[in-house]
Amino acid sequence: KEEFSRGALRSKTVEDILTPLKDCFMLPSSAVLDFSTMSEIMQSGYTRVPIYEEERSNIVEILYVKDLALVDPDDCTPMTTITKFYNHPLHFVFNDTKLDAMLEEFKKGNSALAIVQKVNNEGEGDPFYEVLGLVTLEDVIEEIIKSEILDE
Ligand code: ADP
Repeated sequence: KEEFSRGALRSKTVEDILTPLKDCFMLPSSAVLDFSTMSEIMQSGYTRVPIYEEERSNIVEILYVKDLALVDPDDCTPMTTITKFYNHPLHFVFNDTKLDAMLEEFKKGNSALAIVQKVNNEGEGDPFYEVLGLVTLEDVIEEIIKSEILDE
């Protein structure tokens, strides 16, 4: 049993389990923390919100919902004022990272959310980093539990 779940963790990659970029709840760095934006964040139900510049594929910062505790919507604080103040580190991983390695990364504890990117060299031009989505500790744990149940 132990063997099987370890096997699944070793063979699967973060690309297999990520939340695709198109499904990610994110906000632009140009957003203003007024009543409407703050309600939208609360209603999303997520604890972390990637912040992008210009394009959704260009994630530059991350907002934790708890950063909003002292923000008054009437002040219409620019998003960047808050993200620059807390300045949480952004964590990037490659698409082919195995789940056991990802779990170890998360255990080191600097953040339980990582942005998944791959080197895209399919087109004519120079290779570039393409953001595929995000993966969290929760996604990895879900995979461990799934493989244990399958094995019963
Ligand atoms: P949360 O604490 O925000 O609920 P979890 O780490 O528990 O986040 O992850 C729950 C699921 O939500 C995972 O599948 C994860 O990939 C996804 N997720 C986390 N943050 C976001 C986000 N901002 N937008 C879309 N999906 C997200």
